[in-house]
Amino acid sequence: MFLEKINRFRRSLAFRLTILYVGIFTILIFAAFYVFYQAMISRINARTDNEMEVEMKECSLILAAKGTEALNGHIEEEVKSSGIDDRFFRLLTMGGEEILSSDPGSWKELGVNRSVLKKLTKSSPEFETIKLSKLKYQVRVIYGVVDSGKVLQIGHSLVDDEHVFQDLRVLFRTLIPVFLFLASFGGWFMAKRSLASVEQITQTAIAIADGAIEKRVPTTGRGDEVDRLSGVFNNMLERIQSLIVEMKEVTDNIAHDLRSPITRIRGLAEVTLLSEKNMEEYQSMAESTVEECDRLLWMINMMLEISETEAGVSTLSLSEVSLSDLIEEACDLYLPLAEERDIQIKTSISTQYHLSGDKGKLQRVLANLLDNAIKYTMPGGKIIVSSQKVDKTVMLSVHDTGIGISPDETSRIFERFYRADKSRSVPGAGLGLSLVQAIVRSHGGEIKVSSAPGAGSTFTVFLPLAKIL
Ligand code: ADP
Repeated sequence: MFLEKINRFRRSLAFRLTILYVGIFTILIFAAFYVFYQAMISRINARTDNEMEVEMKECSLILAAKGTEALNGHIEEEVKSSGIDDRFFRLLTMGGEEILSSDPGSWKELGVNRSVLKKLTKSSPEFETIKLSKLKYQVRVIYGVVDSGKVLQIGHSLVDDEHVFQDLRVLFRTLIPVFLFLASFGGWFMAKRSLASVEQITQTAIAIADGAIEKRVPTTGRGDEVDRLSGVFNNMLERIQSLIVEMKEVTDNIAHDLRSPITRIRGLAEVTLLSEKNMEEYQSMAESTVEECDRLLWMINMMLEISETEAGVSTLSLSEVSLSDLIEEACDLYLPLAEERDIQIKTSISTQYHLSGDKGKLQRVLANLLDNAIKYTMPGGKIIVSSQKVDKTVMLSVHDTGIGISPDETSRIFERFYRADKSRSVPGAGLGLSLVQAIVRSHGGEIKVSSAPGAGSTFTVFLPLAKIL
């Protein structure tokens, strides 16, 4: 249990982010300290060299003005004040022979570097850093031409510089763990804070999996990545919830609408079984059963077709379809039915438009719209089928002077099985417009309705245009 907790912690994104953050921080802090340390070394070395050069110039002036004796006196005083292990002076000939020197003490080992002597010019002194076995720290040695034919060698212990460097190293060694501790703490805190919203999404997903479909992730409104993810997640939940509600409605409707024909079929069969009938009655009952079965089959097929068209499962057999031919053919087909009901059908097609679409399916769109227009228009009414171009879209509209639809019902008529109150006396299943919408959408188009009770309805289909002839 405890081991599992540790493993989960090690696999967590917050832990990995903290490790990454601390790793990057460590590299950066070491690099920063290294650069700072090197800068300090070169600065302190430059200062030491500068001091030695000043000392060299002072000795040179004393030698030039007051001679060797005076220089010797000055040197002894300098060694006395700085310490015998700290300073060493030696006056040499250009060939490297000693003329005078301070007390050698621990400096005995210090020789004369002849190659340095050879490079020496009057204007620029030469430096070298060496280690003497009797002195704990390195020494810096300067060679300079002080008087015609004379060279002064000054040795300077780097003990003070080395102490500064040591202090710096101790400071770094103390500060780095403190910084690393603070960085780990800060990194962990920041990682946890920025991942808190992700944790909330996880918790919401867990709650939803347990059945709380109405749960949503709180958004901060900051517009950062996690906030956007929360927004997308909530939208997705919204969509899923509405799909579930839709599915429930559809199943309820299916159950309700299939129950009626099945009950009727059962009723017919029961009546047939219970009482003796003559042949004609049996025949009429069989006919009614076949009719009900056909209606059931039609409904089932229609629902399948709508689902397949919506899901894009049924493929479109695309070809170039002439809109005027489509309209004329459909109107010719429905003219006898319209005449029978004393309804006029008029067309208004100004130009020839071509669509890229599935002719059979587009015919079903127009047939359904015309069928509805005839069904829901009183005798003496009028239907106008027209087409026109709007930008890159073809607008096909079917207008009727029928019963119309109330505003609160217009938004629902494309739902499966929905039927407006006023039309319930007319036969229908409430599936035609669902199929029309699915077909139009599968062609990349849209369908709209404008209607008012008693003032008729206009169904307008917008479809992408193939080309104008
Ligand atoms: P059905 O016509 O079989 O009931 P539809 O899906 O074709 O099913 O239409 C759904 C509902 O929309 C209809 O029941 C009717 O209430 C309404 N409707 C459709 N077309 C018209 C129209 N032209 N005029 C008035 N109401 C209409």
